[in-house]
Amino acid sequence: MAKVTFREERCKGCGLCVSACPRKIVSLDESKLNSQGHHPAHVVEMDKCIGCACCATMCPDCVIKVER
Ligand code: SF4
Ligand code: SF4
Repeated sequence: MAKVTFREERCKGCGLCVSACPRKIVSLDESKLNSQGHHPAHVVEMDKCIGCACCATMCPDCVIKVER
């Protein structure tokens, strides 16, 4: 199974990764704020991830790492 990790402190909450995910499993975590004051992106159902790395490719700030 693929593993997706986020460097949350670098996330600016732009949501580009949210719209890029074909499985619709990336969202902004409304329960968290990073030190920049943004809700960081996270994966809600990792078991549905296909490891396509569309999210990581889309992120302008290299926040996301996908391991397959
Ligand atoms: S690797 Fe693909 S399926 Fe997995 S969270 Fe990123 S965009 Fe979605
Ligand atoms: S694309 Fe990058 S900076 Fe934008 S919300 Fe996703 S992880 Fe955060």
